[in-house]
Formats: sequence, structure tokens, C-alpha cells
Amino acid sequence: MKLLTSANELQELLEAERAEGKTIGFVPTMGALHEGHLSLVDLAKQNSNVVVVSIFVNPLQFSPGEDFDKYPRSLEADSKLLIENQVDYLFAPSTNDIYPNGTEITQRAGVVGATFEGASRPGHFDGMLTVVNRLMEIVEPDAVVFGEKDAQQVFLVRKLIGAKFKDCLFVEGPTLREPSGLAMSSRNRYLSKPGLSAAETISQHLLQLKAELESGTAQSEAISTHATAIETSAQTKLEYLAVIDPQIFRPVDDNYRGAAKIIVAAKVGEVRLIDTMNVTIGKQ
Ligand code: AMP
Repeated sequence: MKLLTSANELQELLEAERAEGKTIGFVPTMGALHEGHLSLVDLAKQNSNVVVVSIFVNPLQFSPGEDFDKYPRSLEADSKLLIENQVDYLFAPSTNDIYPNGTEITQRAGVVGATFEGASRPGHFDGMLTVVNRLMEIVEPDAVVFGEKDAQQVFLVRKLIGAKFKDCLFVEGPTLREPSGLAMSSRNRYLSKPGLSAAETISQHLLQLKAELESGTAQSEAISTHATAIETSAQTKLEYLAVIDPQIFRPVDDNYRGAAKIIVAAKVGEVRLIDTMNVTIGKQ
């Protein structure tokens, strides 16, 4: 595996790969890698000849007071994992390489970008789309892989790729979970013992909610029951729990039938976690 910090050097090497007829698969990350990230690497391998993983903690997608400074950074351990997983290129750029003209927002996430995660984290999705756009311009991949755990991110990035990078295949990877059901996340390492069990309880609520929706309980009733239960759990501050139509990323009403997503965000102690689960409403 080659580790590169310069966008120009990476581009030259990828140009040489393309000249040999190789296709490029790309997995953007913020590092502190876990098996969830590695499952995306596998998907990139299945869809291309050469795999690039980027590690960049993007200052533009963190608001003042969020955990940008505290976000886990473990480049050495990450690079070891990526070597073991036969990644070809690790791109770990500096902020200057990504934003040579200064940290300026170039992409806007629009109306959907202001709801749910965007309501809790104003500007987050503009910053996220700006970095994804920049990384896509540098890497010019044939396939790019994102995890469906970040449901709203996937919704917005798919739109960006469809509009600006039409020739790139968009691949969505399923969420990898701990045996307890907790979605793997770089932030899980900051959970205390009671925090961990509170976080596990939230994923159990998601599973119960999914079962209830599939057996015909009205979503308003199911959401209200589980939101109350989560809100009253020790250590937990619920930010949102909703069932959305994945085509438009808006809450469904009780008459809705078909594919939906349950989405949740909560702060457990100081750690902010999000999760999602697919559900088919009306499936008996
Ligand atoms: P992050 O490093 O958290 O920005 O995540 C990088 C990519 O990994 C994103 O596309 C995430 O959706 C994806 N990802 C994060 N957690 C998981 C997980 N548990 N399973 C699968 N993909 C994940």
C-alpha cells in the first residue's frame, strides 16, 4: 500500500493505473477504522481493480463546540489495518491539500440538509458535501462506496454523485454491528461502560420498533412509545427518532406502506451516536 499526503502525487499514480486499464474504487473515511469501514473496502474491491481509502477529518463538517479536536485519530493503526486488507492507496491529506483556497463551502445540501442531522448540526451537510465533492475531483473514481448507517449522508451524496459524477458507480454498504446489535462507530470507543449499555439499549429499541411496524402498529404510536422509553433512559438525550420515506427523506404518515427507514440520533453521555434500520411497512 502506498501512503500519500499530496493530492498531485495521488493523481499521478492513479493516472498510471488508468493507463493500464485499471478501474478505481474509492472509500472516503475520517479514520479510526473498524470492521464497518473494512466491509466498504471489500465492496470497493468487488467493484474495481484498485482501491483508494482516504482518511481526512474534515473541519468544515464540524460546528464550533463539536468534537473535531477530540475526534479519534489513529493513522498508524489504520494504515496497518488497510495493509492487511490489501488496500492499494491510502490518501491522508492535510487541510491545505484539500482546501488550497481556504475552507470555503462549495456545495449546499438544500432543504433535506437542514432536517434531522442538519437541524442538530447546522452546516454539517454543506461541509460534508464540499469535502466529498473535492475528494471525488481528486480521485475521479469509477466506483465510490458509502455506508448506509449514515442514512441522510448517503441520500445527499447519492444526489451529488448522480448530478456531478454521473459515470461513477455509487455503492451503498450495509451497517456492520457488534454482537449486541450496536452499530460499529469510531465514536463507540469513547463510551463509558454505562454509556455502552445505554447505546445498546437504543439499538434494541430500533429492532423492536422495526418488528412493531412490520406487524402493523401505526408508526406514530410506535415512535411515541420508543421515543419516551429512550428519553427516560439514564445517560441518554434523544435528538430525534423518526420513520422516513427513503425516496424523499421526509417523515411518513400512518397511511404509508412500503420501504422506509427508522432513523435515530442521541447523545449518550458526551458521545453523539446515530443509527438507522430499514423496514417495510405493511409487511405482515
Ligand atoms: P466515517 O469514518 O465515520 O466518516 O465513515 C466512513 C464511511 O464508513 C461512511 O460511508 C460510513 O457510513 C461508513 N460506516 C461507518 N460505520 C459503519 C458501519 N458500522 N458499517 C458500515 N459502514 C459504516
